[in-house]
Amino acid sequence: MNREEATAPSGDQDRKPDSEPKRKKKEMPGGLWMRCPACENMIFRRDVERGHRCCPECNHHFQLTARERIAITLDEGLFAEFDADLAPSDPLQFTDLKAYPDRLRAAQDKTGLKDAIMVGTGKLEGRQVVLALMEFSFIGGSMGYVVGEKIARAFEKAGELACPCIVFTSSGGARMMEGVISLMQMAKTCAALARFQEKGGLFLSVLTDPSTGGVLASFSSLGDVVLAEPGAVIGFAGPRVIQNTIKQELPEGFQRSEFMMKHGFIDRIVHRKDLRSELARISDLILGPMEPAPGDKDPTDKGVEKDSDSGGKREPESGKSPEGRASPEPRPTSRSRARSVTVEKGSAPRVAKDALERKAKEPGDDKAKGGRRRSAGGARADR
Ligand SMILES: [Zn+2]
Repeated sequence: MNREEATAPSGDQDRKPDSEPKRKKKEMPGGLWMRCPACENMIFRRDVERGHRCCPECNHHFQLTARERIAITLDEGLFAEFDADLAPSDPLQFTDLKAYPDRLRAAQDKTGLKDAIMVGTGKLEGRQVVLALMEFSFIGGSMGYVVGEKIARAFEKAGELACPCIVFTSSGGARMMEGVISLMQMAKTCAALARFQEKGGLFLSVLTDPSTGGVLASFSSLGDVVLAEPGAVIGFAGPRVIQNTIKQELPEGFQRSEFMMKHGFIDRIVHRKDLRSELARISDLILGPMEPAPGDKDPTDKGVEKDSDSGGKREPESGKSPEGRASPEPRPTSRSRARSVTVEKGSAPRVAKDALERKAKEPGDDKAKGGRRRSAGGARADR
């Protein structure tokens, strides 16, 4: 009946649903209108879809599936997934209300994924990236050993390709049905990330609603730059647990992006519509712009090969020595670099220039250091 009203003969799609004011009901799931859980306004579903699934009234960011995220993030939505067949089993033969294998099967049927994550490569405004996207609708985006393994492999792949690794977190934490095995993923992902960052890899972590538990307590909060969508729940334990433990009222907005930003846990809050360009901009600031050096041949379609060949090549003005481009050298404390990116908004050229100057100086002035760096650079440096 609601549905009929919504598609009423007038055909006026912008008509406000004022004909049904304060009826509290589950709001026509498949209809043209939906209710925003944040501002409770009735909103036109198509406006939400068009606006990157954000509420046109209050800007509430609805959750995205991994595939929706790919579509709005990568160039032309093109994504080359790897390890898609990695599937979970039931090592502990775990049963709660349901047997774990049944839960898995239901989630797999619902999402079309083997587990709560997709990893793959693609281009972001022309730059090759490795992307990992968590899928909240798959058992709460929880991290079992498949998710942990794929995150670790994503870092390894990004290391091989010498390109940034971007992870979109949307997770309730570790997957209880895998017990201690799921907790071990925290160490595994962090170890893989550490190896990646030692090689100078750039990890951009994007926290979306929700980013909690063992995922936030491991790799998610370790980004060189940590971005968050507005209003996302970000924290380790839930507010009720904390409140009961410390027996105090929690402040307003506790564990939301804005609160976490204020307390220094994240670097920037970015509206979903700006995320793509922001990720590209940060990559440019830290790794250098994408323009090929004047001497480079045919920038047009050899993109993939060239990018995967060397990240350092992208620092055109440093323009020299094969050594200079042999590997993306360890950036002097990626953290401090990340900070400067965040703080010095709008000073792009300077940050990049500093980086280049540092690069130009380093090789000559400190042999020992160079040697160490080379070994840290490992395989890439030797090529
Ligand atoms: Zn709203």
